[in-house]
Amino acid sequence: MTMVYSIALLGLLGLAAGTFLAFAAEKFAVKADPREKIIEACLPGINCGACGFPGCSGLAKSIAKGDVDFELCLPGKRSGAPEKVKLIVNMDQSRIDDAWEKSGENPERAMEILLESSGSPKAQPKKPSKPTRDEVLHYEGELKTDDRARLIFNILPKIDCGVCGSPGCAAFALEVASKNKTADKCVPGKRKDVEKLTSKILEMSETDIKKVFAEANNDTENIREIIDRRF
Ligand code: SF4
Ligand code: SF4
Repeated sequence: MTMVYSIALLGLLGLAAGTFLAFAAEKFAVKADPREKIIEACLPGINCGACGFPGCSGLAKSIAKGDVDFELCLPGKRSGAPEKVKLIVNMDQSRIDDAWEKSGENPERAMEILLESSGSPKAQPKKPSKPTRDEVLHYEGELKTDDRARLIFNILPKIDCGVCGSPGCAAFALEVASKNKTADKCVPGKRKDVEKLTSKILEMSETDIKKVFAEANNDTENIREIIDRRF
């Protein structure tokens, strides 16, 4: 009988301890700041890396911490991301928390609520559509017949983000080589001198292009360096 009492007592103690721990966890839990998630919702979400972070969440985190400024996302400028982010950054914590709760912890919805209540445009940032794998492979195949486009392709970021409006970097290179598009449309390429290098490639003769490929031995960084040094 004593054994039964002991087991029952232990069970009760375990239950009480579990209830207390659950209560303490809820009572003293450190609430995550939703500002970072809402800032991320203002960004294009294409993870192109042009801001120097491997993805949009990295930039959002740094902006929320006050480490970097909101102008860093070049693709986002077309959809007014810096203005929206600035608004969210400067907003009172109580308004952020309130919108977060009303939105059911949905970052896009919370962003809309906050922008609407500030009299800002309701439209969400446009997310440039990324090409499908089949599209990318199709246009990469087309490069085989166009050396100039293949050379341009080799100096592009090769992230197939779709910001330029083309279905991937190979498609963009083909359009630039045939002068149907200008290199400045590749926003992530701005940090990689894509415009400058492309204008040199567009001036090169077929023989020069072949020489660059022969000298570079298919190394992309070599290609950039050779074009910069020789042309
Ligand atoms: S530049 Fe903008 S879209 Fe590209 S990764 Fe950074 S935040 Fe995302
Ligand atoms: S060429 Fe187009 S798809 Fe490629 S990195 Fe530049 S913007 Fe993105």
